Amino acid sequence: MDADPGIICLDHCGPRVFCFQIPENCPACRVRLDHNQPTLLPFRVPYPFVRAVQHPCSVVIKPTNGDFLNNYNVSMDLHIGVTTSNGQVVEFDRGGLHRDKTSSWNQCLVVSQLTSEPWIEVWDSVLETVARQDCWTPQRYHEETFNCYTFVLAFLRCLRDGNLSEAAVSRVKFCEAFVSPRATVACKYIALYRRLKDSGYYVCRTSKSSKNLSSVSATINSLF
Ligand SMILES: [Zn+2]
Repeated sequence: MDADPGIICLDHCGPRVFCFQIPENCPACRVRLDHNQPTLLPFRVPYPFVRAVQHPCSVVIKPTNGDFLNNYNVSMDLHIGVTTSNGQVVEFDRGGLHRDKTSSWNQCLVVSQLTSEPWIEVWDSVLETVARQDCWTPQRYHEETFNCYTFVLAFLRCLRDGNLSEAAVSRVKFCEAFVSPRATVACKYIALYRRLKDSGYYVCRTSKSSKNLSSVSATINSLF
């Protein structure tokens, strides 16, 4: 369950219609859909989740158990890790520090990604230095006070990378600045996905005019 389910958004007669496949009749007005009609303009709603291995030098999050689309709800804690320049996930959990679970990060969110090429070596070497500290053991792990965030924030502080390192002074500050905005977009997508899975389509009558239809962020942000 790590692939884009392919949610389509289309506008036939005003309200936005979301579906997995374009239906024969418009769910809003029941008129038969003519796919050549200029007002139809279907487009794919951007899938927010990625495979960590394709995002080197990133901070990534996912549900501790299960996946976002099927299992996640907002009261659940998110697990956090860091990818190396090769896309390998380094993470700290109750079993200690791991580098061998990258394949379980096939449906995650990138909360921050390094974009400046010259920094790649610094990223890897700081990550290596922090990972080698002997505190990342199963014995030291504590669900509330010494967990996956402790490791990632320690790394980000050592990185001395402007806003990212500044926000890393506390979990609350970091989550507000970097995690929550991404998780909010993801939650909207998840809610939409589950609606479509239940009923096949969703007609969004409260949305704004179709002028913004092609603006993907506007569409995601105005879904509910
Ligand atoms: Zn219609």
